[in-house]
Order: sequence, then structure tokens, then C-alpha cells
Amino acid sequence: MNPFAYRRADDAAAVHAGTAPAPAGAPPAQFLAGGTTLVDLMKLDVMRPAQIIDINGLQRVYGGIAAGRDGLLLGALARMSQVEADAAVRRNYPVIAQALQQAASPQLRNMASLGGNVLQRTRCAYFRDPGYSACNKRNPGSGCAALDGANRKHGLFGTSERCIATYPGDFAQALVALGATVQLRGPAGARTIRFEDLHLPYGDRPHIETTLRPGELITAFHVPAAPYTRRSLYLKIRDRRSYAFALTSAAVALDLGPGGVVAEARIALGGVASRPWRAHAAEAALRGQPLTEASARHAADVAFADARPHGQNAFKIELGKRTVARALLAAAALEI
Ligand SMILES: Cc1cc2nc3c(=O)[nH]c(=O)nc-3n(C[C@H](O)[C@H](O)[C@H](O)COP(=O)(O)OP(=O)(O)OC[C@H]3O[C@@H](n4cnc5c(N)ncnc54)[C@H](O)[C@@H]3O)c2cc1C
Ligand code: SF4
Repeated sequence: MNPFAYRRADDAAAVHAGTAPAPAGAPPAQFLAGGTTLVDLMKLDVMRPAQIIDINGLQRVYGGIAAGRDGLLLGALARMSQVEADAAVRRNYPVIAQALQQAASPQLRNMASLGGNVLQRTRCAYFRDPGYSACNKRNPGSGCAALDGANRKHGLFGTSERCIATYPGDFAQALVALGATVQLRGPAGARTIRFEDLHLPYGDRPHIETTLRPGELITAFHVPAAPYTRRSLYLKIRDRRSYAFALTSAAVALDLGPGGVVAEARIALGGVASRPWRAHAAEAALRGQPLTEASARHAADVAFADARPHGQNAFKIELGKRTVARALLAAAALEI
């Protein structure tokens, strides 16, 4: 592990004090929350921050859960286990509780924060092993070992010839499906953006993963109240039943009218794309239709119509379609 400077920020104003922008080419300062991604990648020598700012002292300001008439506010320093166990989240936003509960392990979820969770890095084996020189994400311009290598777990959407890695998290799909926003605070002040706009597709610059500005801290996530939040769920398909990342997943939320006709459908795909992936066309295909096996399967076909497989990961297309169709039918059958 590289030497680094460590500093604690115990109040919100102190976070940005002394975080002068890093000189060109120098690794930027990193915030330390649960450390379950950051420390892991530092030990592997994949991330080499020169400065670490421990933000755990801010938990009393940015660690709360508040459910109200206008929706749900989740502090970025709330722990995953705290949110998955919250009664209001489980009742009114089940897709959030389920996405968190199916992630990692109980020990990790006790440590890990929501903010750190959405910023976790890809699990591409070539990215995580500096022994491989060709990885555009870790080493811009070096190539992509996965294109002709082990790419069974890689992406179908939002990838490019420079990087085909997937975004690995679960919680982010729930936020995308529910139309959440994310609150940010940086050296230039506070702003709020759609959560869907936080992550970038890979394109030419796979090492740039988000729209965060230098030094910007995620302070909270807001999920607006909506008729579809209660009829929501997360379905995750993986190689083993627990403690594994998604091969495919679907976060779905439905507002059903009389006769089971879809007033609104929200669908986000996990395990298959460079970022949390909203299936807009599949949502549109369902609107105004009764939710049946046939319409669920049609929506799933639409969701994967533009999928671009690479070698070993073609199986994810059919698996992903089945995941979406099954999730939609299960959500429609919920008694709420
Ligand atoms: C073995 C293993 C299995 C896992 N399985 C899963 C899984 O199945 N599903 C899943 O979703 N996840 C999984 N994870 C990932 C895990 O959920 C994340 O490591 C964790 O959520 C990260 O949160 P953290 O607080 O520890 O982040 P940290 O490691 O502290 O931070 C991660 C990154 O986010 C930045 N950061 C943290 N908080 C903020 C903030 N508020 N504002 C701005 N930047 C911030 C840090 O600077 C760092 O770059 C797994 C992890 C491991 C080690
Ligand atoms: S898929 Fe992306 S992360 Fe994996 S080796 Fe290629 S460039 Fe690196």
C-alpha cells in the first residue's frame, strides 16, 4: 500500500477545508466511509490516493433515515444494514430494502455506507489485478484485457470498445427505478441531481465513472413519494445464492390500475451494464397494457433488444430477459 495522509473531518464545514484540488496528474483525495471498497482497492494497489479524509464523524449529520409525505430521505452515511432493517423502508420502498439485503454479507453491510455503495468500482478481474497491464479503466490508454479474455460477467449495455465492465452494485438499481435524486456538497456549494445522471457510460474514457466534481461529497439520496413505490421489488440472479454479485438483476416498481392495467412501470437492470441501467423502452411497452405473462415477456424482450454481447457473456441476454419478466410478474402479484 502506498503512503497517504489521513485526516478526520468531524463537522460538515471541515470536509472541504484544506482539500486543495490535486495538482494535474496526482491522485485526488478520497473520502473514507466504511472503507470496504476503498481500503480493498488500496491494498490491491489499484487505488493510490495521496490523501484520505475520514468522514465517519459526519454520521450524525448525514447518517439519518427520514420517511415523510414527500418521500424518503436517506443520509449518505447511513449504513446498509441500518436502512435494510428500517420498518418504513421495508413497507413503503421494499425494492430498496431488498437490494441492500441481497448485497455483500451482513458484516460488510454493517460497515458499508450508502454513499460508498453507489461509488463502488467494477469487479472486472483485470481491473483489480495490476499484474495485467491492459486496463483502460485503471491505466488509461493501455487497452482492455477483457475484450478477448474472461468476459462472462461483463456488460451488454453502455460499454465501448475501450471497456466492457459492469457496474456491480445493487442499491443503485433501486434508486434508478424509483426516480431518486442525489444531494451533493462540494467546494463550490450544494447541488441536487437525478441519481440516474450520477454514473456515466464508458465511451472513450472508462476511468471517468461519475459526474461528481472534484471534492464533492454525496450527502443524501431522496426518493420521491409515488404510487409505485410499495409495489416494488428487487430480483437478483447470481452464481450462488448469497455473497455474490449479480449476473443479472432487475429493480421493478409498478402502479397498477383497474384490471391490472399498468399505469406506470419502472424498470432498472443490474449486472449487465456499465452503470445502473434504466429500461425506458420496456417501461413504455407496458404502459396501458394489462400485466400478463405475455406482456411481461414482451417488455423483457424490448429491454434487451439493444444488448451487445462480447464472447462469453451472451447467455446474459436470455437470463436477463427472464429476470425482468419474473420480477414484473412477482411485483404484480404482491398484495399491498
Ligand atoms: C466481498 C465483497 C462482496 C460484496 N458484494 C456486494 C454485492 O453483492 N452487492 C453490492 O452492491 N455491493 C457489494 N459489495 C460492495 C460493498 O457494498 C461496498 O464495498 C460498500 O457498499 C462501499 O461502502 P463503504 O462505505 O465501505 O465505501 P468506502 O470504501 O468507504 O468508499 C468507496 C468509495 O466511495 C467514496 N465515498 C464514500 N462515501 C462517499 C460520500 N458520501 N461522498 C463521496 N464519495 C464517497 C470513497 O472515497 C471511495 O472512493 C461487496 C464488497 C465486498 C468486499
Ligand atoms: S473491461 Fe474495463 S475494467 Fe475490465 S479490463 Fe477492460 S478496461 Fe479494464
